[in-house]
Amino acid sequence: MQFDLNALIRENIKQLVPYSSARDEFKGEAKVFLDANENGLGSPLTKWYNRYPDPQQIAIKEKLSFIKQTPADTIFIGNGSDECIDVLIRSFCEPRMDNIIICPPTYGMYEVSAHINDVEVREIPLTPGFQLDLQAIEEAIDDNTKMIFICSPNNPTGNSIDRQDIEMILNNYFGIVVIDEAYINFSRQRSFVPDIKEYPQLVVLQTFSKAWGLAALRVGLAFAQKNIISVMNKVKPPYNINQASQEWIIKALEEVGQVNDMIRNIVAERSLLEKSLSELRVVEQVYPSDANFLLVKVTDANGIYQYLLEKGIVVRNRSSVILCNDCLRITIGTTIENNQLLNALKVYQSV
Ligand SMILES: *Cc1c(COP(=O)(O)O)cnc(C)c1O
Repeated sequence: MQFDLNALIRENIKQLVPYSSARDEFKGEAKVFLDANENGLGSPLTKWYNRYPDPQQIAIKEKLSFIKQTPADTIFIGNGSDECIDVLIRSFCEPRMDNIIICPPTYGMYEVSAHINDVEVREIPLTPGFQLDLQAIEEAIDDNTKMIFICSPNNPTGNSIDRQDIEMILNNYFGIVVIDEAYINFSRQRSFVPDIKEYPQLVVLQTFSKAWGLAALRVGLAFAQKNIISVMNKVKPPYNINQASQEWIIKALEEVGQVNDMIRNIVAERSLLEKSLSELRVVEQVYPSDANFLLVKVTDANGIYQYLLEKGIVVRNRSSVILCNDCLRITIGTTIENNQLLNALKVYQSV
């Protein structure tokens, strides 16, 4: 077996003549732009938003190319990683025929995107240690398995998936392997982005929503060899990243130092919160985390969840999720917020 991109792409996508926007057809400088039916007078807000944004987001990709040490044509930018996931499924998975593999408990959008596209989802739960069950994955794969989603660090468990296990899949499975690295900046593990050179079937997802603190801008990234990226570019809506988001992302990319400071801060808070939580009587286990949240097993997740809500503190109740009985997922907040949480839990356990 070998990787054969052409055999993986849906037939209709192979045949697709992509939409060609005004900005695709003319890219250069000009004095007068009368080609895109924009309003040349301006806008009620600020003059800058009357023109369509760059459909290929070249300025962002050039900056990212330098930061991530990978060529610009190996980068796809989506309206959040959620759009990257959707575009991948629509590019490769034939509805009612193909299937994807996910490893729950994990991020919910893989399954939702597949179901929206009428693509079968094969669930191979993680082991009790929250690692991949390689044998079960191997048994679940058939000729119509187009894609495996691996979330590392995983949401909601917080741990990283063993690199050797991921490499085992990359060396033996030649459908698309998606590694979702939404939380990689908080991890001790290194990113798989440099490995796209080695593995033609690998797609790595990252996002500006977590470490970068820019969830509202809706900007996510996919890294892969350029053949895969060009398929994704064909399928995406032409102007998927709006002008305001593009401008703010470019500014943010100049502040890498500040982002790294925030990451260090959050990781330090994570250690403190982990220690304080594990000293509470209502806490049975705090799982090790490589992310900006902790999965915490408590004595009564539903009761504690409700109690915290009454105190105005919202956490994520994951107790109905496989392998997460009586677990809450708690995002690392500011020092003040984390202390408010701890104080509320201390009051809860004293009554
Ligand atoms: C938060 C999160 C994302 C980010 O999605 P965006 O659409 O980029 O905001 C992606 N994957 C996982 C696992 C997440 O937890």
